[in-house]
Amino acid sequence: MTSIPSVRPSATQKSAELKQEIDRRLDILAKAVDQVRASELFKQYLAVQSRFHHYSWHNSWLIAMQCPDATRVAGYRAWQALGRQVRKGEKGIRIFAPCPFKRETTSQAGETESIEGMFFKAVSVFDISQTDGEELPEFPLPDVECAADNLLSKLIQVAHHRGIAVQFKNLGDGLFGVSKGGSIDVDCTHPTGQQAKTLAHELAHEILHKTNRGALTRNMAELEAESVAYVVCLHFGLDVEVRASHYIALWNGNSKALRESLDRISKTIRSIIDDCSAIESRKAVA
Ligand SMILES: [Zn+2]
Repeated sequence: MTSIPSVRPSATQKSAELKQEIDRRLDILAKAVDQVRASELFKQYLAVQSRFHHYSWHNSWLIAMQCPDATRVAGYRAWQALGRQVRKGEKGIRIFAPCPFKRETTSQAGETESIEGMFFKAVSVFDISQTDGEELPEFPLPDVECAADNLLSKLIQVAHHRGIAVQFKNLGDGLFGVSKGGSIDVDCTHPTGQQAKTLAHELAHEILHKTNRGALTRNMAELEAESVAYVVCLHFGLDVEVRASHYIALWNGNSKALRESLDRISKTIRSIIDDCSAIESRKAVA
């Protein structure tokens, strides 16, 4: 009896094809992120961002106490340099500015010694809402506008299969999703394509960043989660390239950083896609 050769690809073949697909897509994403970073608009955006200080924890707390809705804060002259003017009568937000000093003293033995130190003085800063003038350059982070009900339902099942509860809520404050360690909230006010992209991103955080985060920075964690979401969405036909490349660039990612994490990203993509396939085949048998 002769057997008929199977025309269906073997599991090993499928696995090798998936690996190639993941590598190829991540390479495209890495190049897209570098292109975004090289664009004029992004450079202008960064130049403006660099004029805003990263305030210490203590100063951030002082700003939040005095002006809870503050979004961008700078000194009077810094606003002028950005083409905006603090409105007359606006009350400044008081914070403490570090002032380093260096003093020369002469010791009893007649030697000159230099003493360095730091004191803090109270200064006023202002929120953008207290100023008028030129618009600051923004860098667009477009939402995914289409529907992707099928992919969303697949990803919900992947989460449940992993014991992660998913809730859909109006999160407000421009939030798209939150990974809470064992549960995920997704903003329900966006189209299902955006919700699917968000859920894939938060799933990656749950898998990669809830334990053993070690020395991983927030920038790196966002790069990893968004790269996973990008390939998972594209694999199921949802194009999220513009949002993903802009998102990673805004979190200070680039192709080098992406390649450094390639192994962790690829493994997570595989495990989510494999879960989706297992769910599909269980459905087909049922
Ligand atoms: Zn994230």
